[in-house]
Amino acid sequence: MSKRDYYEILGIAKNASEEEIKKAYRKLAIKYHPDKNPNDKTAEDKFKEAAEAYEVLSNADKRQRYNQFGHAGVGGAASGGGGFNGGGMNMDDIFSQFGDIFGGSFGFGGGGGSRGGRRVNRGSNLRVKVKLNLSEIANGVEKKIKVNKQVSCGTCNGSGAKNNNYDTCRMCNGSGVVTKIQQTMLGAMQTQTTCASCQGEGKLIKDKCNTCHGEGVVRGEETISINIPAGVADGMQLNVSGKGNAAIRGGINGDLIVLIEEEEHPELKREGQHLVYNLHISIPDAILGTSVDVPLVEGKAKIKIDPGTQSGKVLRLKGKGLPDVNSYYKGDLMVEISLFTPTAVNPEEKKMMEQLKESKNFKPNPSKNQKSFFERMKDYFE
Ligand SMILES: [Zn+2]
Ligand SMILES: [Zn+2]
Repeated sequence: MSKRDYYEILGIAKNASEEEIKKAYRKLAIKYHPDKNPNDKTAEDKFKEAAEAYEVLSNADKRQRYNQFGHAGVGGAASGGGGFNGGGMNMDDIFSQFGDIFGGSFGFGGGGGSRGGRRVNRGSNLRVKVKLNLSEIANGVEKKIKVNKQVSCGTCNGSGAKNNNYDTCRMCNGSGVVTKIQQTMLGAMQTQTTCASCQGEGKLIKDKCNTCHGEGVVRGEETISINIPAGVADGMQLNVSGKGNAAIRGGINGDLIVLIEEEEHPELKREGQHLVYNLHISIPDAILGTSVDVPLVEGKAKIKIDPGTQSGKVLRLKGKGLPDVNSYYKGDLMVEISLFTPTAVNPEEKKMMEQLKESKNFKPNPSKNQKSFFERMKDYFE
């Protein structure tokens, strides 16, 4: 008996999509499921036939070979005693396919076709906060922090076993998985679950390590150095892979999650990548012009105040802000000028002010020089 065409078996076109293949197979698998057709050899054969067709057509590589060379291209050709039993798929293989066919809800974890794999222990993530000042944010910094966490046990090298002595788990015969029959809407379904006796490890510790009592981890301290890139901001999280808690009995370490906290600078306020400095100048300086120092992240800069400078004027120092964590862009330092109005004057000053008050030059003429609040805001965000 020669084999039927796989496309014909599933009742699909040669150019059927992955989804169509899956759908067609799902339908047949339900229809011919052995639990729905007890003692029906024809149904069983159809069930196996469909599974084999699906096995080939759902794999891009095998499907291509099949398209090119037919059954010979995918092994298990018409050799042997004929029928589909010669084709090499046993019921276990077929049931194991169901993980991806029925959405992984049957305990296969849906992970790329590896079935019944051993569960790998994973250590939990650790969270730490790191406080940074503006200079550290501007330049990036390496921080060394001491964390108290689960570390691998040195006595047993994290295995938990004294002298590396194990017994094979008898519940699962060392496979780490147990196969169960489960009643579902499709009838009885075979499912695989992690062995409860050995937690999927396939082996049991003969004698527990005295130091860690079989856990493979102990409480310990580690100094971890963290490279913090320039330009981070308050609330950002950095993930340091594998620096979290060690996993029990030699699994994969968790991650260290670093939460960035920003120390407030006494003079410079952060606006994204820009910095804002509020500069107070006296009224005479605003009128006559002057030069003043403004603080930078590192050191200071001298800036010139032109005669006739208006309150609220913003001077932009290009590139004196903070770097962007994801690019070469650097923000600016915005110097926002406020005029300082004295709250007390002596009689002499008062007299001078009364004189100036009458001068035409001192009458406000906002439409001419003074920028509105909205125009000043545009200076920030242009
Ligand atoms: Zn130990
Ligand atoms: Zn076991």
